[in-house]
Amino acid sequence: MTQEAAGSYPTKARRSPASPSLHERLPVVLPVVVAYGCSGLVIWCISEIVNNPPSDRAGWLGAGARLCGLLGSYLLLVEMLLVARLPWLERDVSVIVLRRWHARNGRLLLTLIVLHACLAVAVEAARTQSPFVGAAIGMVLHFPHVMAAAAGLALLVMAAATSARSVRARIAYGWWHLLHLSTYAAVGLGFAHQLLGADLVGSAGTALWTGVHVLVGVLVLWFRVVAPVRASLRHRLRVTAVIREAPDVVSVWVRGRRIEQLQARPGQYLRWRILTRWSWFTAHPYSLSAPPGPDGLRFTVKAVGNHSRALGRVRVGTRIAIEGPYGALTECRRRRQRVLLLAGGLGIAPLRALLEGLTADPGELTLIYRVECSEDVIFRDEIDDLARRCGIGVHYLAGPPGGEGRPEPLAPERLTDLVPALRWHDVYVCGPTGMVTTAVTSLRTAGVDHRHIHTETLSF
Ligand SMILES: Cc1cc2nc3c(=O)[nH]c(=O)nc-3n(C[C@H](O)[C@H](O)[C@H](O)COP(=O)(O)OP(=O)(O)OC[C@H]3O[C@@H](n4cnc5c(N)ncnc54)[C@H](O)[C@@H]3O)c2cc1C
Repeated sequence: MTQEAAGSYPTKARRSPASPSLHERLPVVLPVVVAYGCSGLVIWCISEIVNNPPSDRAGWLGAGARLCGLLGSYLLLVEMLLVARLPWLERDVSVIVLRRWHARNGRLLLTLIVLHACLAVAVEAARTQSPFVGAAIGMVLHFPHVMAAAAGLALLVMAAATSARSVRARIAYGWWHLLHLSTYAAVGLGFAHQLLGADLVGSAGTALWTGVHVLVGVLVLWFRVVAPVRASLRHRLRVTAVIREAPDVVSVWVRGRRIEQLQARPGQYLRWRILTRWSWFTAHPYSLSAPPGPDGLRFTVKAVGNHSRALGRVRVGTRIAIEGPYGALTECRRRRQRVLLLAGGLGIAPLRALLEGLTADPGELTLIYRVECSEDVIFRDEIDDLARRCGIGVHYLAGPPGGEGRPEPLAPERLTDLVPALRWHDVYVCGPTGMVTTAVTSLRTAGVDHRHIHTETLSF
């Protein structure tokens, strides 16, 4: 499939179809591990209650507050790990799934921490015989560690509020990212008052609790800061060309030293930090739009905001720092010989790289490329050329989305018409969230098993 010798670039690595991969086990293993930690904390709190039974209502409220606080803080650490860029998570679990776990865990931990705060205030209100609000203000003003924890809670609430879909769509990626980074500060701000809590003070649990925090901190620091800095220094990437693909889309080529050691695979993405005065402080995710090779790495960007627009003006020779590669939309997911790639809009970028990187005989690969109008098609020459040389079936589906009397372009019957024996294919889907949801529903209706549908979205 790939024309040039792949050399030491890992574009054709293929996992044995028999070996169950990490992404298939993680959805079961991870909740079990998390639940195991939660039950340990519950047992610990219950044993505390058995040893020192509360004598009144305030005592029971206090026990409830401590249980909620410990569980919430533990899930906050899990949340930190989910976004710590751990390679075995980032490369085996799709962005969609990671985001779902992050959102569910985030909702649960915030509920527990808010409940903890309310119960703790209720205890103080009962102790001082004061109203709830007065007790809350008193606690914050009189105890510096409670003030710090309250500030941490405010940061968590802000991060949660900006994650709501309607709010997120109005915020620039850079700001949204910065707000989410502030949750690391929330962990630090809450830590002191946890150590002073009745369950931990002076106990062996203090050492364990501190150790777990230090371990999570080290992992976050290593994978979010040290590893990217090392990779950027080692590979010394520079822009070698900026090519306009459409009025609002450019491809950026970068080259550096020992790029093959990055082990980037077609279908993956990196976070790119353009080292200029206007953009060194933010790294944005863009997928590889060609398999990594002797020409370097290519990513393709649609101008939607400041960062993506400015990439159209970036100069040849500009230095680039990277984080990654990340992403699970790779050949490792593949279980079947026949493959359908289903792209929507700019979702073509990672699928264009896969189209060239997948190992396949003529007739085994099909690409369906969905766009609103035919002018939106990018890489048409490259795709048609690959299709001719490698026997790939290509269908461009241009037109508005279905609904309001219009037929759905990705309806199950349409897909089965275009791709005979669809249910015996592995299907890679990438595009806007709505398109991915529609495509998955149609594929399931057409009989494709969920284990053979591999999805990714470019939404954050
Ligand atoms: C895993 C992954 C891979 C990606 N790969 C690519 C790629 O190959 N090519 C590419 O062009 N883009 C890709 N993106 C999206 C890209 O990262 C963002 O479009 C970009 O970072 C936006 O930055 P900006 O400063 O230009 O726009 P901003 O100023 O951040 O955004 C401008 C406006 O557009 C909205 N917006 C921007 N991007 C998105 C988005 N992705 N989803 C929903 N709303 C959005 C914002 O809410 C805002 O209203 C990818 C995203 C992810 C998560």
